[in-house]
Amino acid sequence: MKAFKYLSPKTIEEAIAFHGQHSETAKYMGGGTDVIVKVKEGWMEPDFLISLKKIKGLCELHKNDATGELSIGAMVTHATLEKSLMIQNEYPIIYDAVSNIGSLQVRNVGTIGGNLINAVPSADGAIPLIALDGVALLHGPDGERSVEVKDLFIEPYKTILKPGELLKKITIPPPAPHTGSAYIKFGRRAAMELPLIGIGVLLTLEDDLKTCAKARICLGVAAPTPMRAFDAEKFLAGKEINEEILIEAGKIAADESKVRDSVRGKAWHRKEMIRVHVRRMGLKCIEIIKNNR
Ligand SMILES: Cc1cc2nc3c(=O)[nH]c(=O)nc-3n(C[C@H](O)[C@H](O)[C@H](O)COP(=O)(O)OP(=O)(O)OC[C@H]3O[C@@H](n4cnc5c(N)ncnc54)[C@H](O)[C@@H]3O)c2cc1C
Repeated sequence: MKAFKYLSPKTIEEAIAFHGQHSETAKYMGGGTDVIVKVKEGWMEPDFLISLKKIKGLCELHKNDATGELSIGAMVTHATLEKSLMIQNEYPIIYDAVSNIGSLQVRNVGTIGGNLINAVPSADGAIPLIALDGVALLHGPDGERSVEVKDLFIEPYKTILKPGELLKKITIPPPAPHTGSAYIKFGRRAAMELPLIGIGVLLTLEDDLKTCAKARICLGVAAPTPMRAFDAEKFLAGKEINEEILIEAGKIAADESKVRDSVRGKAWHRKEMIRVHVRRMGLKCIEIIKNNR
């Protein structure tokens, strides 16, 4: 393993300045569960690792009581999200996703920010944040800018972040009344397994508790980047939600996915699992909505 210098700035400005001084050879680090593996294996050879651990505010998980907006700092760990009663009760799709990432050890140090910026198609944390219309706040040498989480990704391991830019937090608008959400990481094993396919569904119903006001169907490992199944979402909007309609939405989502064969699974199997689990997650959303009435 190539030696590197570990830098530990206390402010975002300091981190960006460090990065500016060594831009070609410096890398930001969250929990390091991806970065350190890559450095050890020789896939990445930075001269400087800039840890974001000591920067105040990046670890905050907070809901604004007045606006209902949820704010998740980039350095919030999967374990913090998993253990939060607010996340368990009000954002089940986040809980479903983060509670199945890696192992307890990985969840204790791995961060939601690192999960997004690593930008792999299988990032479990990306799917709920896209489904919830999350917005990423970025901070770089030219100041701050916001971008929808769904627009962060360009291709595997590549995001829209400019040199020196870092992810500060993700904000999530308050879910509308009568909203349910659920995620399943479908794989061959229950633990320590990247998903064969990841399926997240969010449904908001009208006051009649039948008609779909809003649908989000988000898929991991179904394309080079985490994706939304826009055709399936459009199909559901305005329709009375029942099992047959969800089966149809599952077929549409499977058809618009860009699944492929890989060492972990075959494309046809991934499509089948999208069909099956869009229906299942949709039914789970309805159950959540009815239980919260
Ligand atoms: C054994 C094992 C099992 C795993 N299982 C899963 C799994 O089931 N599901 C899953 O989705 N992932 C899994 N992972 C991958 C990894 O743990 C997660 O992606 C984790 O969330 C990464 O977060 P981190 O803080 O450790 O990222 P780091 O390793 O610190 O960083 C990852 C990337 O993001 C960049 N980065 C980090 N934070 C920021 C920031 N705030 N701003 C800008 N750039 C930043 C880094 O420069 C780097 O490029 C697993 C990893 C291991 C080692």
